[in-house]
Amino acid sequence: MDKPIYLDNAATTPTDPAVVEAMLPWFSAGYGNPSAIYSLGAQAKEAVTLARETVAGTLNAQPREIYFTAGGTEADNWALIAAAQAYAGKGRHIITSAVEHHAVLHTCQYLEKQGFSVTYVGVDDQGVVRLDELRAALRPDTILISVMFANNEIGTLQPIAQIGQIAREAGVLFHTDAVQAYGHLPIDVKTLGVDLLSASGHKLRGPKGVGFLYVREGVKLPSFLHGGAQERARRAGTENVPGVVGLGEAAKLAQASMARRAEAERELRDYLIGRVEREIPYCRLNGHRTQRLPGNVNFSFRFIEGESMLILLDQAGICASSGSACTSSSLDPSHVLLAIGLPHEIAHGSLRLTLSAENTREELDYVVDRLKEIVQRLRQMSPLYEDFCREQERS
Ligand code: PLP
Repeated sequence: MDKPIYLDNAATTPTDPAVVEAMLPWFSAGYGNPSAIYSLGAQAKEAVTLARETVAGTLNAQPREIYFTAGGTEADNWALIAAAQAYAGKGRHIITSAVEHHAVLHTCQYLEKQGFSVTYVGVDDQGVVRLDELRAALRPDTILISVMFANNEIGTLQPIAQIGQIAREAGVLFHTDAVQAYGHLPIDVKTLGVDLLSASGHKLRGPKGVGFLYVREGVKLPSFLHGGAQERARRAGTENVPGVVGLGEAAKLAQASMARRAEAERELRDYLIGRVEREIPYCRLNGHRTQRLPGNVNFSFRFIEGESMLILLDQAGICASSGSACTSSSLDPSHVLLAIGLPHEIAHGSLRLTLSAENTREELDYVVDRLKEIVQRLRQMSPLYEDFCREQERS
């Protein structure tokens, strides 16, 4: 294989050439500042307005409910910190889940240091948030529930409509981190009962460093960045015009091709899962078997260390991940895998393969063939595996 097989689409996606094309004029001839009075500025402003309308349309939202940010992390930080500030008079309790991305978890830890209390609701062995636990966690001083739409490591989809209903009945704000789901699955903020939603351009073949926060009309969040009237004075700073245009284009393309891509990805995903389960012993599929992102595959292989697997896969021209891209440099096992009940040693032997509709069965066949060799090779070097085999022979 001359070019790498890219199976890390949850970390980031290649930018669509049509998106690059749409962005280019805004780096060159269309360089005006959208706040300027003259037409060069007005054109840039119009481009941002169009992108806002496109994004709003994909969610059944109003354009004025969309605030562009510098990505998913910023949108998550803004949603949580601003909601906490705005509603502190009502209460200082927040509910989230144990499997959130660190953009939410670390923000919650920050808020705990500011005097808020946070309940981290557990998940079942497939990664689905326990709704009974979530209901039981509600208190008179609860102001916010934040539960992700789809998990970035194991792909499990959360019962967002039900959580929206619970939040509404309790009179509590509901934020969802939809960074992995936006552009991949249909999302209607109105029917789901979502008040705040975060998304990021680079997960849907858009540019990196741009995303948005949806803020339902009527939710009064304080400004996140101060110093200008941009984004209705709630997120100051000269707009990232090329990035916003790219995000708008990516959102439009993703919406148009969503059903076709999801079907192709599910087919590839289930083919890959099937081959691995049939051909590699002592593996475990992590996450929900059906309620999962169309392109997500996550396995744990016993007696193996995930990092070594990634290095050998890379040598075979395969880009994969052991979990979240943000924690891949850490040696701690994934908090998501621990939350679904995996013991440390099994959580360490995990592999995430996230597909796109552009992948082919031929590529997946190559991946499974290499993976079989790699798993076998690493197990042969594992004293734990040796002990296990001896034990098997004895019994
Ligand atoms: N939330 C989730 C679920 C993610 O997967 C990611 C990125 O991997 C983020 C937030 C952060 O998004 P960004 O990279 O745009 O800051």
